[in-house]
Amino acid sequence: MNNIPKKTDVVIIGAGPAGSSAATHLAQAGINVIVLEKNIFPRNQVGESLIPHFWKFTDVLGVSEKIEQEGFIQKAGGITAWNNKIQQILFSDFGYTRSGLHVERDIFDNLLLAHAQENGAEIYQQISVKKVDFSDKNAPVVYFTDKRDETNQQSSIACAYVIDATGHSSLLAQQFGTRQTISSETNFLSLWGYFKNSRYAGVDRRSHSSESIRAIKPVTFVMSYEDGWLWHIVLRDKSSVGLVVHTNKTKGMNKAQREAFFKQTCSQLPYLKELLAPATFIDGSLQYRPDYSYYSTQICGDNFYCIGDAAAFVDPIFSHGVQNAFYNASLASVAIKESFKKPQKRGRYSQLCASRMQQFYGFSRALSLGDFGCNGVNRDLVKSLMKAMPPLELELMLVAAEMTNRSENFKQLAKEAGVWETFIAQSRGEQLASIDTLAF
Ligand SMILES: Cc1cc2nc3c(=O)[nH]c(=O)nc-3n(C[C@H](O)[C@H](O)[C@H](O)COP(=O)(O)OP(=O)(O)OC[C@H]3O[C@@H](n4cnc5c(N)ncnc54)[C@H](O)[C@@H]3O)c2cc1C
Repeated sequence: MNNIPKKTDVVIIGAGPAGSSAATHLAQAGINVIVLEKNIFPRNQVGESLIPHFWKFTDVLGVSEKIEQEGFIQKAGGITAWNNKIQQILFSDFGYTRSGLHVERDIFDNLLLAHAQENGAEIYQQISVKKVDFSDKNAPVVYFTDKRDETNQQSSIACAYVIDATGHSSLLAQQFGTRQTISSETNFLSLWGYFKNSRYAGVDRRSHSSESIRAIKPVTFVMSYEDGWLWHIVLRDKSSVGLVVHTNKTKGMNKAQREAFFKQTCSQLPYLKELLAPATFIDGSLQYRPDYSYYSTQICGDNFYCIGDAAAFVDPIFSHGVQNAFYNASLASVAIKESFKKPQKRGRYSQLCASRMQQFYGFSRALSLGDFGCNGVNRDLVKSLMKAMPPLELELMLVAAEMTNRSENFKQLAKEAGVWETFIAQSRGEQLASIDTLAF
């Protein structure tokens, strides 16, 4: 069992995509970085659908080739059946030459973590961080329990910067009391589980058995229904199915009742029931995340950065979570690298980082949740991002905004930013194919 050093440059708490990619960026710059992760990898995680934007981050990290070699399922786009309107979006129609992916997150996240280690980051697993003491502004101290043996030793490590990448645990936001659960009519929870031998939604708008997966590319299937919405994502040897429903839908239910509710709902909903007709539920695979839309009002400070889900979480309908984790990690790494060079400017770098992170958060929220009120969204920041975004990426998001009735605020912001008119004038919406019915 390796001893954990008492001092380092940067401590990263949590080894999901946010933590491991920040570790790679910093280690590549010659900064000493230690990652503390409470679980043993590979560990399960939800969030298997990746849109092609993520490649630009993995290219910079130098890990794209490893991801390609892993042979994850390539997805061609998405089909939504929303309020009885069926539409399809294909990445290739936008000029994307690389696919999106459906990834088993335990394998994907483990691959990213191994890459961080190869690049020089020190990784310690089964280390559960309890709190960070910021009383010395130049040397925060991270307190943890070492669970690698039965003694559960308490220990600490001092550093110059802390990155909180603890996902929905939001360690620092909880410690500071800055985590706000979004309370609105869109106060959802999610239930998800895995099925063996499911059929999948193909790019040809038909359903297929899993044997065809390499011949006929899949799409992510998303559908609204009276209680919320659902996803179906085919993976290599199972399918991920999730329901996103209003919080009060499962109120008072115990675990067994939630599972019964999940299975029954899946077996009744149109299209999904056809996909799952030959499938078997994998016992014990049901998971549950209540009250899951939140943000923190303080995401960066002179010597800390909260990134990925530790900073905020948006309903995952447009698959922005992993991309956001990569983006936040790259921003925080730049800010920390620059802060080491010019410590007197560290406050300014952290402010800039927070503003960029908040900008993308606002963008995702506006796209995914119709009703955002003032829940942490800075409208001006979102509009400036819309104007500055690579046209291809913006176009895909503007088309996606037409797929559900969730994006009214997003469209309004696009109009105010002056990008919606251009989009309509060029009739780009044609890249969204309307479908009468699906042959499932
Ligand atoms: C229902 C649902 C569906 C989703 N679908 C998608 C999707 O299709 N596509 C997509 O891109 N995203 C999706 N997401 C979002 C995606 O899962 C997250 O955005 C992504 O995992 C965030 O990565 P992260 O590194 O910030 O956090 P995580 O992946 O959650 O990693 C955090 C890590 O921190 C560790 N940790 C936590 N606390 C401590 C501690 N105290 N000490 C040490 N370690 C700690 C955890 O063990 C974990 O390994 C979905 C999310 C949900 C809830």
